[in-house]
Amino acid sequence: MNKIRVHKGAAPPFAKIKRPAARRPEPAPRFEPEPEPDDAPAITSFDELGLSEPLLRAVKEAGFESPTPIQARAIPILLGGQDLIGQAQTGTGKTAAFGLPLIQRVDPAQRSVQALVMVPTRELAIQATGEIHRFAKNSGLRTVPVYGGQPIDRQFRALHLGAHVVVGTPGRVLDHLRRGTLDLSKVTFCALDEADEMLAFGFIEDIEAILAELPKEQRQTALFSATMPPRIAALIKKFLPDARSVAIQPKRRTVETTNQTYYEVAPGNKQDALARVLDMETPGPTIVFCRTRSATDELADALRMRGYGAEALHGEMNQSERDRVMRRFREGQADLLVATDVAARGLDIETVTHVINYDMPWDVEQYIHRIGRTGRAGRTGDAITLVEPKERRNLRMIEQMIGTPIRPARIPTAADIAARRRDLFVGTLRERLAKGDYDGQMATVETLASEFDPADVAAVALQMLWETTNTSRPEETQEEIAADGEQPEAGMARLFIGMGRQDGLRPGDLVGAIANEVGIPGKSVGAIDILDRTAFVEVPAEHAQAAIEALSATKLRGRRVKVTAAHPPR
Ligand code: AMP
Repeated sequence: MNKIRVHKGAAPPFAKIKRPAARRPEPAPRFEPEPEPDDAPAITSFDELGLSEPLLRAVKEAGFESPTPIQARAIPILLGGQDLIGQAQTGTGKTAAFGLPLIQRVDPAQRSVQALVMVPTRELAIQATGEIHRFAKNSGLRTVPVYGGQPIDRQFRALHLGAHVVVGTPGRVLDHLRRGTLDLSKVTFCALDEADEMLAFGFIEDIEAILAELPKEQRQTALFSATMPPRIAALIKKFLPDARSVAIQPKRRTVETTNQTYYEVAPGNKQDALARVLDMETPGPTIVFCRTRSATDELADALRMRGYGAEALHGEMNQSERDRVMRRFREGQADLLVATDVAARGLDIETVTHVINYDMPWDVEQYIHRIGRTGRAGRTGDAITLVEPKERRNLRMIEQMIGTPIRPARIPTAADIAARRRDLFVGTLRERLAKGDYDGQMATVETLASEFDPADVAAVALQMLWETTNTSRPEETQEEIAADGEQPEAGMARLFIGMGRQDGLRPGDLVGAIANEVGIPGKSVGAIDILDRTAFVEVPAEHAQAAIEALSATKLRGRRVKVTAAHPPR
């Protein structure tokens, strides 16, 4: 389920910021990444990259099992002190690719900003700060994000308290620099993340101004960009002329015996989405891929709690644990094997019907490797990928490389699943009827049929059977979905709206309806989260009841919808 979070009052996070049109650069240099050496052995362990002991421990604690392709190639270059240009999409593990060498370079004992990371959006600033913090939390390193939209005085305070690493959007970084609230004279490491996006957002001149202010000596720069427009190539020529460059561009491949589908899902809804997909697909033996060891354990536990037969398989398990899990999977006691890539390497089980990419693969090689676990021995298999909105571009890249479209599908609703269960139920009945395997009950039926209509007898018997076979996972009701786990802001109340993006609902519909029907100004409406089939909106707590009544009585997008207070999560 896709979740769009719109905070009224603040600039939408991905809004393009209009800046004066950039001057045309002189003829731009062409940018050619170094080809991936064909004979280079694939690096499969973080131990081989040259990272310090504390960082290796932190990586291990994060549950990362092996470096992603961009990490394997970028980390040794950066640790060797060279500048780097990385051509890689978001979601490929770029942040750790520059973040780990950055942490290793910064000295927490020195009270100065030693590393600067520039990113295009506030979301990325927060994400990258979180990722750096996760690896540096035991080292006493302070990382401060600065971005537009947040009150600047709060940032003054955070910077004043002392930061070793600053992660920010170029406009705001420049702002602090000009105000004298940020001293970049001790910076020895600068990373530019998603340089092409920063260009598209009109930040290029700000970036040039900032880079020109950084110390030239002893400075290392890493630039990441999915594409290399001429203006970025010119920037590289000026500021990173001797950089090594790596591109993660895998070779074209084809996959034939697999039906490939993807579902777009908001990060917080992945478990629910997976459960629904499983209920709808009723797969046979299935491998579910996760990125980290901890994720496999968590997901397998969560699936077991929901009543599925799931087992985790990861690289940290000893041989006897692994054997036990594989035995249960082969013998059908567990249908779902929740595995990391490393653990699933070499698994060859002909009967696997489905491969599910719970976490997106890093690149097309990994995608093909994963989905090759199904569709074996002449059977067709199904490959299902859960895609977060920010990973759409990676999916498109995979599609391009394999040369076949991956079919989009809608997360099944509770009603779809109920219909599917009924179909399966009826299918089983048909089979039994065809087999004629019911002599044992015939005498009872004949007795009852002398008192009741035989059709009624059959209907009651089926109802009893239906109730006993369908009690393990009750269908989710709209009430249950009315919990999304988000806490409203102080003074606000969160309302559940039984309509979502698939019904055409837009933030403006909610703001308009609340303003008109409740008579409060549109700007007092708070966060709006629009999901596939439902939505949440925050209103001032004192108007919550009036808003529920007014919205329930009016129509949204031409129809009446259910509006209630959002429940806390179960
Ligand atoms: P990024 O491209 O930096 O936004 O990373 C995408 C996601 O992958 C983040 O959630 C990272 O924490 C995660 N990640 C990065 N590197 C690894 C790795 N080697 N193994 C598992 N997860 C990773």
